[in-house]
Amino acid sequence: MKIAIAGSGALGSGFGYQLHKNGEDVTLLDYWEEHIQAVNEKGLQITVNGIEDTAKMEMMKPAELEEEMDLIFIFTKSMGLESMLEDIKHLIGENTKVVCLLNGLGHARTLEKYLEPKNIFMGTTMWTAGLDAPGVTHFQGEGPVELQNSDPNEVKAAKEIVEVLQESGLYGVYSENVDYTTWRKACVNGTMNALSAILDANLAELFETSTINSMLYSIVTEFSLAAKLEDDVDLDVDEIVGYLTGVTAANIGAHYPSMHQDIANRRPTEIDFLNGAVVEILHEHGEEAKYCQAITDLIHAKEDVLGIER
Ligand code: NAD
Repeated sequence: MKIAIAGSGALGSGFGYQLHKNGEDVTLLDYWEEHIQAVNEKGLQITVNGIEDTAKMEMMKPAELEEEMDLIFIFTKSMGLESMLEDIKHLIGENTKVVCLLNGLGHARTLEKYLEPKNIFMGTTMWTAGLDAPGVTHFQGEGPVELQNSDPNEVKAAKEIVEVLQESGLYGVYSENVDYTTWRKACVNGTMNALSAILDANLAELFETSTINSMLYSIVTEFSLAAKLEDDVDLDVDEIVGYLTGVTAANIGAHYPSMHQDIANRRPTEIDFLNGAVVEILHEHGEEAKYCQAITDLIHAKEDVLGIER
């Protein structure tokens, strides 16, 4: 199967490596020159759950790959999705399946501008990854990768992709309700990520603040209203707040979530596709999301103070 990874940064490199190890014909795509050069000269140097390896893999810019693909995994940041879809249009044929596992909300609408629903597969992943230097990455976790077909007639195709993920050690799972999983994950990112970035606090420090409960309830309540209005998804606010509190108690207190790392490394954040998306959805329905608006404003203000271009 010819597979392209559209955006081979942290997570894309990890997925590409696992699929390549399973014998798939994988091409890594990115536009970062030093990264491309390092991978082509020295191979992809990757540490997966503590085990180091170097894989001889091909990496190039999207425009340099010419043939249509069978399967494309998109792994840009949310704000790069649309320009990536423009850049890979020539790789998408009548039957090219495209999988989108980005964090954030609203991506299915963007994909629908470029693809027929029968070729769109939305999902979430619990794997984590980081880029240490050009060509050097780490990838960790035990999955799962949940995904579902956008077209109800494409269950078989989705299950085939899930099987490829399973064979590649990525713990694919067919989801009966990927909208629910996506909104639930967005709640995690819209609370822990955004608050950690604003307060410059790790998760232990964040969850020790006297206002954590009030902040979690306020944010998750706005997410749950938006989920119902936009996708008819029912989120249980108490269950999610309980889950968030439990996750932190389970030994990840020293962790700084990715939005904190984006700010620390002077990179734009995905806030417009999390709390910012909730503001827009509620606004479209004549409602207000005061808490998510304040959080989005604070993150953008922080980007401005640090001179981060959006
Ligand atoms: P990343 O910034 O490391 O990788 C994105 C890559 O896409 C970059 O290397 C960039 O150069 C490339 N890119 C963007 N637009 C491009 C274009 N038009 N042409 C060519 N290359 C292009 O990001 P990441 O950490 O891998 O995250 C990807 C997505 O996965 C995000 O939505 C993130 O929230 C989500 N996610 C990340 C993790 C994690 O641990 N890193 C975990 C779960 C979900």
